[in-house]
Amino acid sequence: MPENESSQPADFIRAAVIEDLRTGRFSRVHTRFPPEPNGYLHIGHAKAICIDFGIAAEFGGICNLRFDDTNPVKEEVEYVESILQDIRWLGFDWDDRLFYASDYFERLYEFAVALIRKGKAYVCDLSADEIREYRGTLTQPGRESPFRNRAVEENLDLFARMRAGEFPDGSRTVRAKIDMASPNINLRDPVMYRILHASHHRTGDAWCIYPMYDFAHGQSDSIEGITHSLCSLEYEIHRPLYDWFLDELEIYRPRQIEFARLNISYTVLSKRKLLRLVQGGHVRGWDDPRMPTLSGLRRRGYTPEAIRNFCERIGVAKKDSIVDLALLEHCLREDLNRRAPRVMGVLRPLRVVIENYPEGLVEEFDTLKNPEDPAAGTRKVPFSRVLYIEQDDFREMPPPKYYRLAPGREVRLRSAYFVKCVKAVRDDRGNLVELRCTYDPATRGGDAPDGRKVKATLHWVSAAHAVPAEVRLYDRLFTKENPDETDDGSDFLANLSPHSLETLSGCWVEPSLAGAKVGAIYQFERQGYFCVDPDSAAAKLVFNRSVALKDEWAKIEKAQRTR
Ligand code: ATP
Ligand code: MG
Repeated sequence: MPENESSQPADFIRAAVIEDLRTGRFSRVHTRFPPEPNGYLHIGHAKAICIDFGIAAEFGGICNLRFDDTNPVKEEVEYVESILQDIRWLGFDWDDRLFYASDYFERLYEFAVALIRKGKAYVCDLSADEIREYRGTLTQPGRESPFRNRAVEENLDLFARMRAGEFPDGSRTVRAKIDMASPNINLRDPVMYRILHASHHRTGDAWCIYPMYDFAHGQSDSIEGITHSLCSLEYEIHRPLYDWFLDELEIYRPRQIEFARLNISYTVLSKRKLLRLVQGGHVRGWDDPRMPTLSGLRRRGYTPEAIRNFCERIGVAKKDSIVDLALLEHCLREDLNRRAPRVMGVLRPLRVVIENYPEGLVEEFDTLKNPEDPAAGTRKVPFSRVLYIEQDDFREMPPPKYYRLAPGREVRLRSAYFVKCVKAVRDDRGNLVELRCTYDPATRGGDAPDGRKVKATLHWVSAAHAVPAEVRLYDRLFTKENPDETDDGSDFLANLSPHSLETLSGCWVEPSLAGAKVGAIYQFERQGYFCVDPDSAAAKLVFNRSVALKDEWAKIEKAQRTR
């Protein structure tokens, strides 16, 4: 894991930037984050955002936000808006530097004309299938298009008429004239422009030809004066083409540097796959708390701090790897442990009647809001004769090492009293209905003056005061560490977990939570961290469990240390 030691750069990108500033290749740092608005941002994008905005800030530079909106068919305003919101939420700011590749359509067109004039580009009449066929393979060189040697004037005329809308979709393309025998397939006369009679979310029907990503990206970087164009590893084999266009156009050339994509176990991080989860109804939407999207993570209770900390801990490497989902959860626990107020909530309630507690009496106990943060102060928790505890906290026949409530056994109710179970009441069919208990008034506040000990402390709520709640518990969305791995050749959907969501509707939470705000996050004692969901209504709060308390990652780290 890279540490930011005083003189040592934390990773190879920062080392490259330092080197460029030292040698004078660049005298400033200007990066960009270039999302395509064809889906919601996910945690992989958060990594890229932290790198792009983070490195610029570290070197006193700036970072642009640029939408790579060159494909009108898959792009939508909804995505643009969600992306703006998610980047801001993550804590980054592009000031007034919000750009769109579509802002440059006219200039990109002129660039293409310039290449045609130079004899470096041509209009090709091959169909998409034919182009693929002519392209060759990794082991076989491609064949030249029969249209490759068209005269400059004819190319210019055809290109102008493509723009004017004279030809149907797919009938012609503009291609760069590079090398059909190049070992890099990206250099085998790549397509620069295609015909697409489709409305664009920003330029409307002004264009019926659209530039390809490779023809738009480098030139957009160049126009904006980007110094370091940082992107994920799959663009490495596009870099020669990135450089070729800029060199042939004789315009300013930024430096592209690639880093490994983020992969997380039990998770898919590809907008195409995430879209299938949404469209197939496998999740409730892009912001379903099981989704690795930033909006899903936010709804789940992830904080920007936890996500930024995660991105820092995984570091920046050149080699692809899979990060353990447990590390992401660990980063969240670390953050929430510090800031989440403690409350009591009972998820699977079991009624308890304290037989010797006076009817109608209500006592209020002062309880710390957060032992990790004394400044948070205390809250009042009401206690009365009828309570709810967790069904799991009682066993009629306790197995060895089960220290919680059982007939005849005494336990502590957090911050309140010691109580002892005298009887378990069952209905005709044998179902457990309630417990009858007694309390010891001398243990007020939760300690026995005679020094007697109990082995368990339970959370509870007062039945008359508690607020009804629905709680949604989440598990991994996929059963396989690598969801793309299937036994029978079917796709990743075959690995969806049937247990990723469990909804508990009869829960009770302490009254201090009445009116809790959407997005607020609490630690329910002994149960984990819970975030108030937008589905909450006056009659019923809805909580998402962000993460349980048990920290898998701490265990993994400990095992690694002792190995
Ligand atoms: P996806 O595969 O999810 O569709 P993409 O690369 O097509 O991702 P873009 O909108 O083009 O999505 O990505 C914007 C930026 O985010 C790019 O610079 C890309 O390199 C980076 N990025 C995308 N996915 C990841 C990831 N998993 N890890 C790190 N960076 C990523
Ligand atoms: Mg992309």
